[in-house]
Amino acid sequence: MALIVQKYGGTSVGTVERIQEVAKKLIKHQNEGHNLVVVVSAMSGETNRLLSLANEINDRPHGRELDVLLSTGEQVTIALLCMALEQFGVHANSYTGGQVKILTDNTHNKARIMEIDDNKIRTDLAKGRIVVVAGFQGCDKQGNITTLGRGGSDTTAVALAAALKADECQIFTDVDGVYTTDPRVVSEARRLDHITYEEMLEMASLGAKVLQIRSVEFARNYNVALRVLSSFTEGGGTLITAEDPKMEQAVISGIAFNRDEAKLTVLGVPDHPGIASQILGPIAKENIEVDMIIQNTGSDSTTDFTFTVHRNDYQAALKILTKTAESLGAREVAGDDKITKVSVVGVGMRSHAGIANTMFETLANEAINICMISTSEIKISVVVDEKYLELAVRALHNAFNLEQIS
Ligand code: ASP
Ligand code: MG
Repeated sequence: MALIVQKYGGTSVGTVERIQEVAKKLIKHQNEGHNLVVVVSAMSGETNRLLSLANEINDRPHGRELDVLLSTGEQVTIALLCMALEQFGVHANSYTGGQVKILTDNTHNKARIMEIDDNKIRTDLAKGRIVVVAGFQGCDKQGNITTLGRGGSDTTAVALAAALKADECQIFTDVDGVYTTDPRVVSEARRLDHITYEEMLEMASLGAKVLQIRSVEFARNYNVALRVLSSFTEGGGTLITAEDPKMEQAVISGIAFNRDEAKLTVLGVPDHPGIASQILGPIAKENIEVDMIIQNTGSDSTTDFTFTVHRNDYQAALKILTKTAESLGAREVAGDDKITKVSVVGVGMRSHAGIANTMFETLANEAINICMISTSEIKISVVVDEKYLELAVRALHNAFNLEQIS
């Protein structure tokens, strides 16, 4: 008998019929002998609807009031799901985040979970009940309702699984797992049976459509076995766990990409200590996130400095950089907002040489120019012109044989 936390996303509980389907599924799992704690999201579209209501009334609503409003979406689904279960003759109790004491800090709209009191849940489970908990919400020390940020129900589920020391945390969603790359770009993309937390975090651009990435960090920190699977089709989904040194790892697990990148370069900056912080400091001050950074070793007493930002931040970053360049006496500022980042990810690359070379050769064979390169222990990323994105992803997927079952 296992203790399982299951989370059903907005589409899975999007209509009354779907809520009934979820209830049937839960009963089936309970009949298999499992103890179930269930986390649900709001019905699909509901959180957006509530947000736009708020914005119609006040263009900058107070965070506290916004959380009172947004948390109602999940309160509806927990009650409906319990009613569906009762209708099928199964006892279930619903709880809001505050009722099961999901204690968070007081950062409204993106609160962090600090503690969970699992007493009530354990008592209910001991009585053979199914426990249904509202995702995405908690309360702070003063009892104010808080929410965890968009997609936060995944984090609720993982946090509950950690607190209850559950055997597995299963995220039921509208896709059947994590793929080697986006199947819309490469139709031969394959569902991965297993992937490590680290890989999943490095593949955030692929994973983000499946899971709130914060929930993966949470799962890694508390070593919660996390499984992503479809609400609508059968199958084992993708299991996300720590690396098992006894198991042989695939060298490459996937090809991730970020479409909307931009790069900025300042040319001919005087090469002296403090230059990097003088260039990036003002960018950071405006809360613009910088991804890759490259500084050349200059041959004279000047250097060139390049970094990438999200495309949405390009104009703002360009403005700041132009100002900085002037004050530093740099020669020129250049930029390009038509670039993308393609990454090859896999824990197996630690023990295999030549991955970078295969990657560069593959791109060269397609005559794709690499503008920037960066590496981590389990990832190699390149920046290429956006017009080559699909070609690059397909060629790399093929070069690393990702369509084959390894
Ligand atoms: N209902 C919230 C949202 O739409 C939380 C969630 O679905 O995970 O972001
Ligand atoms: Mg979601």
